[in-house]
Amino acid sequence: MSSVMASASASYEHNLAPSVTFANSIMGCDEGPPAHLKRIKSNFCRQCGSAMQLKRAKEEGSEDSDSNGGWRHMCSNDECGYIDYFNPKMVVGCIVEHEGKILLCRRAIEPCKGLWTVPAGFMELDETTAEGAARETWEEAQALVQVLAPYAHWDIPMIGQAYILFRAKLVHPFTFSPGRESLETRLFHPGDIPFDQVAFSSVSSTLK
Ligand SMILES: [Zn+2]
Repeated sequence: MSSVMASASASYEHNLAPSVTFANSIMGCDEGPPAHLKRIKSNFCRQCGSAMQLKRAKEEGSEDSDSNGGWRHMCSNDECGYIDYFNPKMVVGCIVEHEGKILLCRRAIEPCKGLWTVPAGFMELDETTAEGAARETWEEAQALVQVLAPYAHWDIPMIGQAYILFRAKLVHPFTFSPGRESLETRLFHPGDIPFDQVAFSSVSSTLK
């Protein structure tokens, strides 16, 4: 996972190339449902309760035949016709600076329990990316921050996630302490960051 993060960030041109699924779709090669859709469990329709099926959208040239080779999780009840779309999740967080130091949290939960990282987590509905980043910083480090600017963007298509990390600064009362998902919170001089104990290589490269 980590090496993919690093290479994804290094080259946008790589990310702009069409996926194999999309390329097969537009070139007319049909090799059945893509593996990333087959792994998803979608058993019952959330609209009518009927069984869901992984099948191809019927209409040629419709929007649904353009991505994922046209394969979708669809309700088996034709009168309902509900389609369960699965989209990537957005992870947002902050690189918090205070007096030349960076605020890190030691994780209390898996994955990478016990290792250091920046405060970050899944964006919620009804918030902006910056609001989500500030909220996660409060939840994990009990720190109030002002978000300054986007700093890093990572795409990790193999696990369906995209990351945006913001630069931020600590604001009054300039305090921090471990939240529920952290064992410890600490300000590090950039030269003192324990890179051999940083949780994710994406975070590690961003901090470097
Ligand atoms: Zn249905």
